[in-house]
Formats: sequence, C-alpha cells, structure tokens
Amino acid sequence: MAQHTVTLIPGDGIGLETSAAMQRVVEAAGADIVWEVAEAGAACAEKTGTPLPDETIEAVKRNKVAIKGPCTTPVGTGFRSVNVALRKTLDLYVCLRPVLSMPGAGGRYDDVDLVIVRENSEDLYAGVEFEEGSEAASKLIKFCEDEGAGVIRPDSGISIKSISITATQNIVRYAFEYALKHGRKKVTAAHKANIMKYSDGLFLRTAREVAKEYEGRVEFDDRIIDAFCMNMVIDPAQFDVVVFPNLYGDIASDLAAGLVGGLGIAPGANIGKEYAVFEAVHGSAPDIAGQNKANPTAEIMSAAMMLDHLGELEIAERIRRGVRAVYADGSVLTGDIRKATGSSAPAASCTEFTEALIAAIKAQA
Ligand code: NAD
Repeated sequence: MAQHTVTLIPGDGIGLETSAAMQRVVEAAGADIVWEVAEAGAACAEKTGTPLPDETIEAVKRNKVAIKGPCTTPVGTGFRSVNVALRKTLDLYVCLRPVLSMPGAGGRYDDVDLVIVRENSEDLYAGVEFEEGSEAASKLIKFCEDEGAGVIRPDSGISIKSISITATQNIVRYAFEYALKHGRKKVTAAHKANIMKYSDGLFLRTAREVAKEYEGRVEFDDRIIDAFCMNMVIDPAQFDVVVFPNLYGDIASDLAAGLVGGLGIAPGANIGKEYAVFEAVHGSAPDIAGQNKANPTAEIMSAAMMLDHLGELEIAERIRRGVRAVYADGSVLTGDIRKATGSSAPAASCTEFTEALIAAIKAQA
C-alpha cells in the first residue's frame, strides 16, 4: 500500500473534534497517510491576521489533496469566506456531494442514492458585490436604468449573478462523465431559466447542448429549482445525478442531507483538474463546538471519498462498511442522530462514536 501525504486543515469549531476523529479512523482502517497540518478559518485569522495564509494554499498545492474541517465565516461583515477563496485560488470548479440513505440515521427515506454536482466558481456565490450607498452601486444603478434593464432602488446592496458558458460546460460535462464512470443512468439540471433568462437560461441551454454529446448513454432532463425542491421532499429516489449552478446547489445539499439523517452524515469534495479538497457539508456548529458532541461521520465519509480519489478503494470501503455497521447496530450514536430518529437513548460523545467505529472496522479484519 502506498504512502500518501495529505494536507489537513482542521478549521474552526467542531472541525477540531471531527478532524481528530477522522484521522484516528483513517489510520485504524489501514491507510498510510502523512498528515501535513495547515491553518485556516476564524481562529487562524485572529492568530495570524489572515483567515487563509499563503502557506496553507502552498501546502495544498504541494500535496494536491487536502481534507478540511469547516471554517467559520462572519455573517454580513468581516472577511470573505475561506471556502470561496480556496475554491477560487485552487480552481476547484466541482462541488461533489453524494447523498445516500443510511439505515439507522433517522432519514425520512431509505432509498435515496443521488449525487449533487454543484458548480463551484461563479453565480451569486462569486462574491462580486457592491455596498448599499457606495459610488459603485450608484453608478451601476444608473447604468441599469440608462440601459432600460430595470429599476433598482437607490438604497440597494447589489450582488452580481453571472453564469458563463465555459463554467457551465465544465460542470455539466463533469456530471455526465461522473454518471458514465459510476454507472449512473440520468443527469438532471436544476435551474430557474423561466425567470433569469440570461443566467439560468444560459445554464439550461448549455446543459442541453452538452447532453447531446451523451445521448443514448446517459439520460438527461431538467427541473425548475422550486419544483425540484418539492419533488425532492416527496420522492427523492427519482433523482440520480443532479447538476446545479452554485447557489441552488448549496441550498439543495442541505435539503438533501436533511432527508437522509442530517448534516452530521453528509460528506463532500471540492474537485479541480489539479487539486482536490474534501470536506463535510456542515459548518463549524458553534452551538456544540468544544463539547465532544459533534458527529464526525460526515468528515469520516469525506475521508472515504478522499481515499477513493487516492486509489485506496478497499480502505475506503472498509470505512464505509464500518460506518454502516455502527448505524445499523444503533447503540452508539451521537445526539444529532438520536434527535433525527426520535430516540430517547443516551447520546454518544464524538469520542465514543469514533471508538465504536474503530472497533467495527477492526472487527472486519
Ligand atoms: P452548521 O452546519 O455549522 O450548523 C447547523 C446545525 O447543524 C447546528 O445546530 C449544528 O449543531 C448542527 N450540526 C452541524 N454539523 C454537525 C455535526 N457534525 N454533528 C452534529 N450536529 C451538527 O451551520 P451554521 O450554524 O449555519 O454555520 C456555522 C458556521 O459555519 C458559519 O460561520 C458558517 O459560515 C460556517 N460554515 C462553514 C462551512 C465550511 O467551512 N465548509 C460550511 C457551512 C457553514
């Protein structure tokens, strides 16, 4: 088995606890990983003056693969999101989030098996914004009026939504290639093309063009995002691979996670042509941080995706089998899952869960 060097960014809040748990599980499963720890996030900003030091970016570039815990982003003011900056700097244009029912996790459905492919570089998420009352905002408002594009109230803050043919082709092609590689049957594009004709309209038109290249091999259809959400809640099993512009993909990821047991078990990855950064869907959960209550499953399942990416398929599968066994057994589960299942059994700590999982992994040998 090969040795791999991986950059580990524990991040903020529960990231410290879930990252430590993830490391123990990956090692117990037999992976030979050298962890190069790097800093990012709000605590890092306080300590070093920047939430994303150059050394952290350099470490990811050097090792090409990283796993990160969540980073706290101040709401409304303060520094911009570390995640957005990382995705931009490393050109991680794909956000990949598999959503799979886990028996015992308290999900609303036991037959969900879909993959969210979210565009990761543009849309409203790119952070191209103008502050209310600024000279730039006033100029833009006047420009829109002069062009006859529409009236914007003078006391507006403005965020620009841009969607390009290039980024859409890249993400939709990735979704189809993923479907082919993993034996999936259908790609669905979610959008609001009926209202935003020049941004989402372009997304849909481009998706349809790319879909033609895969005709006869992978099916294609599309859903308006609001109808998609309703259909997800009613019958999520109808979806296979779903491709989204950035913002809808972000929201749909949490919706999908909620259907299968919550954020505590939802893994993810940010992938580019050169680099890949694996991370759970959830945030730093300040409400439970530092209390040994966090569910580390999402980061552990993200590590399993990372091991797949590194070619360590058997070790990744060993971890997934262990996780499924702990959930099926049901005696050692964290508070979020106890809540989701409506169980009054005592909640396990992050450490107790991790130890039960390590025991389940070792029991397979
Ligand atoms: P959150 O995901 O941190 O928490 C939402 C709820 O889910 C909370 O009640 C939390 O306790 C619970 N939860 C989340 N993960 C859990 C886990 N592993 N185990 C048990 N319970 C869990 O979302 P939020 O409160 O909106 O965000 C908190 C901070 O995290 C914000 O600063 C936000 O910007 C940041 N954030 C970072 C990332 C990232 O770095 N990838 C992603 C999302 C949010």
